[in-house]
Amino acid sequence: MPKIGVYICHCGENIAGAINIEEVRAYAAGLPDVKVVRDYLFMCSDPGQELIKQDLKEDLVDRVVVAACTPRTHEPVFRKTLEDGGLNKYLVEMANIRDQDSWVHWNDKDGATRKAEKLIGSAVAKAFLLEPLRERFVEVTRASLVIGAGVTGMFAALDLAEMGYKVYLVDRNPSVGGNMAKLDRTFPTNDCSACILTPVMVQVGNHPNIELLTFSEIESVDGSIGNFKVKVRRKQTYVDWNRCTGCGDCVKACPHEVADEFNQGMYNRKAVYIEFPQAVPRKAVVDAAHCLNCAGRDFGTQPRLHSKTGEPVAAPCEKTCKTGACDRSVAYNPRGEVVELNVGTIITAAGFKAMDKHPFKEYSPESPNVITSLELERLLAATGPTQGELKRLSDGKTPDTVAFISCVGSRDKHHHTYCSKVCCMYMLKEARLVKRKCPDTNVFIFFIDVRTGGKDFEEYYNYCRDLGVRVIRGRVGAVDELSGDRLRVRAYDVDIAGPVELESDLVVLATAMEPPTGLKELARKLGVTCGAEGFLKEAHTKLYPVETSVRGIYIAGCVQGPKDIPESVSQARAASSAAAIPLTLGRVAVDPLTSEIDQEKCSGCGICVPLCPYSAIKIISLGEILRARIDEALCAGCGVCAAACPSRAVKLHGFTAEQIEAQIEALTIAAGDASGA
Ligand code: SF4
Ligand code: SF4
Repeated sequence: MPKIGVYICHCGENIAGAINIEEVRAYAAGLPDVKVVRDYLFMCSDPGQELIKQDLKEDLVDRVVVAACTPRTHEPVFRKTLEDGGLNKYLVEMANIRDQDSWVHWNDKDGATRKAEKLIGSAVAKAFLLEPLRERFVEVTRASLVIGAGVTGMFAALDLAEMGYKVYLVDRNPSVGGNMAKLDRTFPTNDCSACILTPVMVQVGNHPNIELLTFSEIESVDGSIGNFKVKVRRKQTYVDWNRCTGCGDCVKACPHEVADEFNQGMYNRKAVYIEFPQAVPRKAVVDAAHCLNCAGRDFGTQPRLHSKTGEPVAAPCEKTCKTGACDRSVAYNPRGEVVELNVGTIITAAGFKAMDKHPFKEYSPESPNVITSLELERLLAATGPTQGELKRLSDGKTPDTVAFISCVGSRDKHHHTYCSKVCCMYMLKEARLVKRKCPDTNVFIFFIDVRTGGKDFEEYYNYCRDLGVRVIRGRVGAVDELSGDRLRVRAYDVDIAGPVELESDLVVLATAMEPPTGLKELARKLGVTCGAEGFLKEAHTKLYPVETSVRGIYIAGCVQGPKDIPESVSQARAASSAAAIPLTLGRVAVDPLTSEIDQEKCSGCGICVPLCPYSAIKIISLGEILRARIDEALCAGCGVCAAACPSRAVKLHGFTAEQIEAQIEALTIAAGDASGA
């Protein structure tokens, strides 16, 4: 019979402050097959682990229950303890009496103590049925995929490439650069954004270990750490990029203009376009939906014919392209092509989206003189619609007064409750840039409060104040359009405890940072989770900030939550280090907590096959009969098949039906005892 040891941790005051340890000890000692019960101040400390090791060495116990905190962070510690004590490391079970008990029932000591008894009882019931398992190892493909080629993704890719690993860098836009490429300057040093970003973009474009897959989207992700199989859809550019030199002749020749996404729709681009002047790769793309020549026709199949001569007519871009890259006679597949990649690790750095201004009806978003801060960045940038001159697009006038409104969509229960973290600083930066370009312009910033928590940020704030930027503490209730293209900002000034009104020529809304478009779908493909606010969730906020719930998939930058450029770059470099570890090791240990199919019980119904999110199950024929088989290397042990199988043919090691039923039974018996039933 198994000899079970129960080890109860005080976790300092964390557990012992809310749970009567003595009573729990006495309860555990009375459970069947429990031979040893001990408690200690910090069971994960060296002396705590030594207690367990000693009992193992003296053969007092051969199954271990640790009643402490979450297995998410501490199970590896106690598995190692068992290994050091000479026992198979999978013969440990944890009862989470901290996160799931003492912390949530802090003011109910008796209730928390009874719950701890039940949780320990349930863990002991499972420990009785634990079986030794053997770790397995998988070979790691020494290549990595980085999703998103903004500043974060580029640094992650460069670090891995510099370590000698092959990197596939995927971005949905034609060029690398992301949101940072749209900024005029960056705080707190006021560097020209393009000046510091362009060399990084060029480095990424030229690095022999980086394969750029721009204008591409992730189609599917299969497999697990070491061996991810990723399908990437390369969207159709309708230009042969192998021939395109990026000369831009086609762009000049194209007669048709549409709103330019890079300039936030404030300016037009052509139907054939190069994303922005410093684009890497500098290649042209035809926007087939807006191209006058190909609208309604498929490339290469229905040439436009001259109305009189009936001869095929070349489009202006075709006529001007000297390299033949722009050729309408090619039968391009509008869906582009799918390429398959094999990688060992994945970093997701898909960035953020600046919130749209239109939901904020109270701020007159339809007025061309009410703009977002990202739109102001484009107005201030030399490559923007006004070539860097501060002018209103509505009438070309330099504004006499500019009013900034903070926290638009952030810290607001009607939109996003989180703080977007960078808005205070970028508003100060933009205010400073306005003052630099037009010293006589009056600049007002309406803040809820100013958050300048960063190196040199407070000095930056004080400098802006010294420049004459006026700060008003209070939320803005409305922006009204007045005659003569003026705007009136109405707010409550907390410092004077009364309403204030300000007439302004330009109003700038510091809209929230949001998860990028399609992030939910990408998360589903990757199998990682999104937090309540929609950003990707890290494995542990403090200890594993760049890891996700899926081993081998890492996150960096704003895809995890709002952050500024230095923080994003730091995270990129952390993620690249973490992603390089399996690549460097060449093979990684994988938990044996995977599923196995009992061929005797399996009816070959195939219900489990489409349910497996890792495509690990196949139906095979054994002579006349069909049976399901699981590829152990692909199975991630999620347990979906075990729950779905009508024949109970699937055994998930570490979470067998018998083990779970024993836990439930122990809990229900304990609940019955507690109610006196
Ligand atoms: S004209 Fe031809 S080579 Fe030049 S940018 Fe356009 S497609 Fe490329
Ligand atoms: S447990 Fe089953 S469903 Fe989950 S990954 Fe393994 S085979 Fe697929």
